[in-house]
Amino acid sequence: MSGLKDDFQRGIDYLRLSITDRCNLRCVYCMPPSGVVPSTHKEILRYEEIIRIVGIGAGLGVKKVRLTGGEPLTRKNVSFLASSLKKIRGIEDLSMTTNGTFLERHAQELADAGLDRVNISVDSFKPDRYREITRGGSLDSVMRGIAAAEKAGLTPIKINVVPVRGVNDDEVSDFARLTLSTEYHVRFIEFMPSGDNDYWSPEKYISTEELKGKIETIAPLVPVRIRKNGPSRYFRLGDARGVVGFISAITHHFCADCNRLRLTSDGKLRPCLFSETEIDLKTALRNGGSDAELERLLRLAIKVKPEGHNIGDALARKGPLALSGRQRRPMAKIGG
Ligand code: SAM
Ligand code: SF4
Repeated sequence: MSGLKDDFQRGIDYLRLSITDRCNLRCVYCMPPSGVVPSTHKEILRYEEIIRIVGIGAGLGVKKVRLTGGEPLTRKNVSFLASSLKKIRGIEDLSMTTNGTFLERHAQELADAGLDRVNISVDSFKPDRYREITRGGSLDSVMRGIAAAEKAGLTPIKINVVPVRGVNDDEVSDFARLTLSTEYHVRFIEFMPSGDNDYWSPEKYISTEELKGKIETIAPLVPVRIRKNGPSRYFRLGDARGVVGFISAITHHFCADCNRLRLTSDGKLRPCLFSETEIDLKTALRNGGSDAELERLLRLAIKVKPEGHNIGDALARKGPLALSGRQRRPMAKIGG
C-alpha cells in the first residue's frame, strides 16, 4: 500500500513522532532561554501507546517513521522503541532527528535496534558560536556523535542547518563545502516562525534562493533526484561526494509534496506544521478506544490535512505573519 491519499491526492506514508518535548539544549531559534515547560511523565505517550499507533498507521500505508522531539535521546531506552517500531510490518524506514550530543553513547545500540539513519542538527562548526546558538552545547560532543553515527552505519549522515542572518550565515559556504569531501547530505532549513519564541523576524530569515546564490560561488548546483526525498530538494556541487539539500518550508510551499503527519509528544496528530488543527489520539487511547476508533482518527487527520499554508505569501507582501499561520505550539512539542 502506498499510503492513504488525502483530498489533494498526496499519498501520506510518513509519520514523525515527537517522543519527548524535553531537550538538553536551548537553541535560540527554537526555545526561549528557560526552555519550554516540559510535559509531565503522565502527559506524554508511553512507548506501548506509540507502538500501537504506528501499527495502525502502518496498516493504512505508513512506511516511514522518524523519531524526533525535543531531543529524542533525552528519553530513556529509545533503542527499545526503535526495535519495536522496526518490527512492525510495513515500516521500511526508521530515522531520527537529533542534536547529536548523546549519539556517541547511543549510535551503535540504535543501529543494532534497527534505526536506519540520523539527521544531526548543527548550526555552526565554530565551538564558541555553537555554544551561543544552543545556549551551552558542546560542539565537541556533537562531532564525536557524528563520528559514532558514521561508524555504526547510520548513513547517509544528514546534517541539518538553520541559517539565521547575522548569526551563522557566514558559514553557509563552509557547510556546503563539506559535501565535497564527505558523503554527507547537508540540508539547509529555512528559518520558520515558531511557537512561544519571539526570536524570529523577517530580517533574520534567509530564503533558499539567497542561500543558493551564496553556495553557487563555489560551483554550480546541479539538481539530483534522490528517491523518497519528500519535500527536500537536492543538488550536487560539481562532482562532490555528498549533496546539498534545501527545505524551503516558507518560500517554496513544499505542501504539494507533503507526505507526512506529525504525532506530538502528548498524543495529538498534527496534519500540518503550520496549522493549529490537532486530532486527539491520547484520549481515545486512554479511554479504551478500539483499533477501529484509532484508525478512524488517523483517517480523519489525513482528511483534514490542509492543501497548504500562506506564510510565504505574507512574507512576500512584507505583511505581518497572520497569527493563524504561526505555530503556537513550540517546535520541540510538535517535533520539527
Ligand atoms: N532536538 C533535535 C534536533 O535539534 O535535531 C530534534 C528536534 S528539533 C525541533 C528538529 C529540527 O527542527 C532541527 O533540525 C532544528 O534545527 C529544527 N528547527 C527548530 N526550530 C526551527 C525553526 N524555528 N525554523 C526552522 N527549523 C527549526
Ligand atoms: Fe533542542 Fe533541537 Fe530545539 Fe535545539 S532545535 S532546542 S536541540 S529541540
